[in-house]
Amino acid sequence: MASVLIRGGTLLTTPDGMRGVRGDLLVLGSRIEEVGRVEARGDSEVIDASGCYVMPGIVQTHVHLVQTLMRGAAEDLPLLDWLRRRIWPLEAAHDEASIRASARLGLHELLTTGTTCVLDMGTSHGGDAVAEELATSGIRARFGQAMMDAGEGVPARLLETTRASLDASAGLRKRWDGYGGGRLGYAYAPRFALSCTRELLEEVAALSRMTGTLVHTHSNESADERALIEGATGRAPVAYLDEVSLLSERAVVAHGVHLDGAEIRILADTGTTVAHCPSSNLKLGSGIADVPRLRAARVNVGLGADGAACSNRLDGFEEARLAALLARSHGGATALSAADVLLMATRDGARALGIGDVGALQAGFRADIAILDAERLAPGGDPATRIVFGGGSRAVRDVMVNGEILIRNRRPTRYDPGEVLVLANEARSALTARATVS
Ligand SMILES: [Zn+2]
Repeated sequence: MASVLIRGGTLLTTPDGMRGVRGDLLVLGSRIEEVGRVEARGDSEVIDASGCYVMPGIVQTHVHLVQTLMRGAAEDLPLLDWLRRRIWPLEAAHDEASIRASARLGLHELLTTGTTCVLDMGTSHGGDAVAEELATSGIRARFGQAMMDAGEGVPARLLETTRASLDASAGLRKRWDGYGGGRLGYAYAPRFALSCTRELLEEVAALSRMTGTLVHTHSNESADERALIEGATGRAPVAYLDEVSLLSERAVVAHGVHLDGAEIRILADTGTTVAHCPSSNLKLGSGIADVPRLRAARVNVGLGADGAACSNRLDGFEEARLAALLARSHGGATALSAADVLLMATRDGARALGIGDVGALQAGFRADIAILDAERLAPGGDPATRIVFGGGSRAVRDVMVNGEILIRNRRPTRYDPGEVLVLANEARSALTARATVS
């Protein structure tokens, strides 16, 4: 079994904190074998981490890899116009080649900025292409093909029958759930209440319960969307999702910006995770989620950059910084510390995805690790403060997932980044030419 000794770094390591401790870390196969003062084994590869922070890789609980090529193509629009006028037509124009190019570019941006695990929502076709790109990249992921069997302004290419949508997800789950020793897993992805029939949501809830599969959806993102769901269902959005039995500790709901007190109680009681996407919420003018209130109510909160079409960057450290800053607009200067936001970005995200052995530097845990060159961070402060407020992603030097080094000295090991960029540019032009946007 291959072993790697990460020697002499400052480890952000304890199960319940993000304090820095000097030490070494031995990886054996896909797992962390030992943490502390560790001797190299005869055949260990040694990585010198002196002057570096060694931390669990970032877990992003809400991204859309298929939207990476749509960056800049839907600027300055509120959510529903953004979807109907630009994003859905562009998703409808995707072919297999453009989906692959989009996913590859997104994965490149994620890995090189220290994200080691994502929960991805695709579009309503091309799920196998996304899965193959996830498999090839080496990242850890939970993913699902978006389900859309209703909705105003949904292009014909994206609209499915309820049966076809369920069958497509069942097939993808069968082919990909558990791939790579559990590195990939499936997550049903009913897009949001306005693009899904009640029948579809109830079926997904039953399947999730039966099989233990995750459910990934959007809700309470903008005031308009909230009002439309209330008008259509007679319920607050979270109450409606609860009524169709979709909420549980297996559910991840992206956004949660516009929530009332009763909805927050439902999220807490059901064990549902909210994926907080601060860049996306700010850029689409949706609002600011009250993360301190959610956390005080014991709702698990993870972080996500959402798609590049609404946040323009897939940088998990940037989301952590924004989350820590925006929490203070609701809860003051003590609302969310740098150490706590790093836990949200790692341990709490892994918990949301039901992955109990990711998100901490602990013996027995999966070796999903980011090594940051401290010299590239703004100086001053404890490690968590420097990482969150001092420019975390620009310091990322090495990235390991499942014990394999995927980024070494800032260079990807599994692919040629130049090729990824060329392919993305070609595919972006072709995609834009094919799409009918207004
Ligand atoms: Zn989203």
